Amino acid sequence: MENYDKASIPSLTDCLKAADETRELLIHQGCYMEIPALLERFYQAGGVYLVYDENTREAAGKLVGEILMGARVPIRGEFCFPANPRLHADYPGITAIKEGVSALSNSDGTVPVAIGGGTINDLVKRAAAELKRSYLCIPTASSVDGYTAYGAAVLYEGYKQTMSCPAPLALAAEPDVLAKAPSYLSSSGFGDLASKIIAGCDWIISDTVEPLGAPGAERIDNKIWNMTQPGLMDYLERSIDAARGSGDAVIALFEALAITGFSMQAFKGSRPVSGSEHLFSHVWEMDDLSLDGVPVTHGHKVTIGTLAATACYEIFFADPAGPPSPPKHYVRPGPSQRTDAVSSAFKGNRSHDQVLKTALEKYMDDRTVSRIGEAVRDNYRELRERVLARLLPYGKLREMLGRALCPLKPETIGLSRGEVIATARRAQMMRNKYCLLDLAWDMGVLETTLSRFEDSEEYLY
Ligand SMILES: [Zn+2]
Repeated sequence: MENYDKASIPSLTDCLKAADETRELLIHQGCYMEIPALLERFYQAGGVYLVYDENTREAAGKLVGEILMGARVPIRGEFCFPANPRLHADYPGITAIKEGVSALSNSDGTVPVAIGGGTINDLVKRAAAELKRSYLCIPTASSVDGYTAYGAAVLYEGYKQTMSCPAPLALAAEPDVLAKAPSYLSSSGFGDLASKIIAGCDWIISDTVEPLGAPGAERIDNKIWNMTQPGLMDYLERSIDAARGSGDAVIALFEALAITGFSMQAFKGSRPVSGSEHLFSHVWEMDDLSLDGVPVTHGHKVTIGTLAATACYEIFFADPAGPPSPPKHYVRPGPSQRTDAVSSAFKGNRSHDQVLKTALEKYMDDRTVSRIGEAVRDNYRELRERVLARLLPYGKLREMLGRALCPLKPETIGLSRGEVIATARRAQMMRNKYCLLDLAWDMGVLETTLSRFEDSEEYLY
């Protein structure tokens, strides 16, 4: 990975300033004591509606409730999800919160407060937006980058989608609570942070093909890039012991994840922090991937997605002389063949129509595709250099994820190696957001890449 001058990396405060929805992030010991003042200053709150689950009520909810009562902030109501089964970010949860708030006799001026992990935050974020009010976030684990992000990842009509809704106006994260979170939540957050390596590589690909008219491609915005990419390796190193409960590591991890959320707020999209690796994860989210009946966390799915995407990158850019070539008699599938392929890949899935629509929206005419192929081959050396300077080599990535107690093998998240590799095909169809999987498909080499992946003795073992 390339080195950056540390002085050029924006601080957490700079990143918070760049965000246009979140106004305050408290992360220091005792910061819950400042919650009443936050409610007064940013919300002019007439009262609060607390949302937690049985675990996060114990971890933080009770203490927050006591502090609020001590400060005479009216607690107008509460909603407690059961601890088991593990909560899903699906629409009925949002409806339940909305109905709870709307049923209050003095609902006006009541601020929803999300006390929990990524799922509770997403549910409250969307419910608050539908109620046309701001909410306060009290994160209880360094487990996802979504706390400070615009939008909520919600399963709606069988399709995992980012439903639009503003980030919280303010957050209060108590380091002691974050450090006591279950280890698997912190390792999930670490995996979600490591995924930004691939997001950076995909942004380079997207930046290269945008001028050629590729749909779903975006240019690199240097200000946003500098928020997330140059400081990433340093944050990963400092976060490595988060899942072991190290206070400093858990703070570093939370800060890094918060920054990635701020970068999404500033960019108005997820491009800076989510790429091919999240597409793998989205497919598994749609499939309700679980292990022994327990849903696999977002961050653990993303971790395996990051390993798989890194393998795809290394295979695609393995040869210094040029990208893989399509098979000898390769003919690019026409629109109707493409329709059939997408249709059969998502047959019986509730998201079938939506995915088909997306896949056809990003289906390019032959001229644009050959322009992209030509440009990539002509500028291959430079592109390869840029990407490999950003990519963490597979062996190093695996070693780092292992130290952070992240899953390394597909079986750990309930999948076989073959299933993970095959997911790349469906992942490529899902979103109109140009990434390496799109480039490989457009150049007719996705299958070559995946069969080399399949044959390798290095990846995903
Ligand atoms: Zn994520």
